[in-house]
Amino acid sequence: MRCSACEYTLAGLVAGPCPECGLRFDPADPGTFTVLNGFEHRQRQMWIGVAAAVLLAAVAIRFSVKSDTGGVAMLVLMTGVPGLLAFFGGIPLLRRPLSTRLVAVSMIPAIILAGSFYTLAIHMYLSLGGWPANIGNAGFSSPLNFHVEIAQHCFWFPSLILFVTWPIAVVVFAVVRRWQAGVHYLGIVAIAWALGFGLTQLGPDGFLDWWWD
Ligand SMILES: [Zn+2]
Repeated sequence: MRCSACEYTLAGLVAGPCPECGLRFDPADPGTFTVLNGFEHRQRQMWIGVAAAVLLAAVAIRFSVKSDTGGVAMLVLMTGVPGLLAFFGGIPLLRRPLSTRLVAVSMIPAIILAGSFYTLAIHMYLSLGGWPANIGNAGFSSPLNFHVEIAQHCFWFPSLILFVTWPIAVVVFAVVRRWQAGVHYLGIVAIAWALGFGLTQLGPDGFLDWWWD
């Protein structure tokens, strides 16, 4: 058991502030301390990065074999490769164990993307009893039309913001010493987005045809 801020060994101590840095911990609450030291922690991130690289390669290959999904493969690589570079490049910059909360925050763009896509797909299927036969919104109920509006905005708008701000954020985080670990989290943001986008394109054909038309 170690302090999650300074890695001070807390073995044998009761709940309270870390003797080294004052961060409060409670042996009964695993969220308040870490079991890995810095080396083990970085090593674990290396393996997570390798697994992510294999997954991204599999997704890119899956979409590049068919000519009409080549654009999907391209977008997965365009976001996944810089993501992996930031992820691995950021590992030596991690001065403390990863924060579960920041990891969750890093996945928000991917969750919005895949979530808006699949909640609409489910809503449409239930509302129409199947996939739309033609393009456009003919025959959609007004709640479904409203959902289409929201889903299309949630799909592209946060991603566009992300594409513009991500490279700037990488540079800022890399330069500002206190924020350097942020480079690793930005890697998670981009890898999660690439995988989330790939996940949407594995959806049912009937819905994908409608979505892209
Ligand atoms: Zn401490």
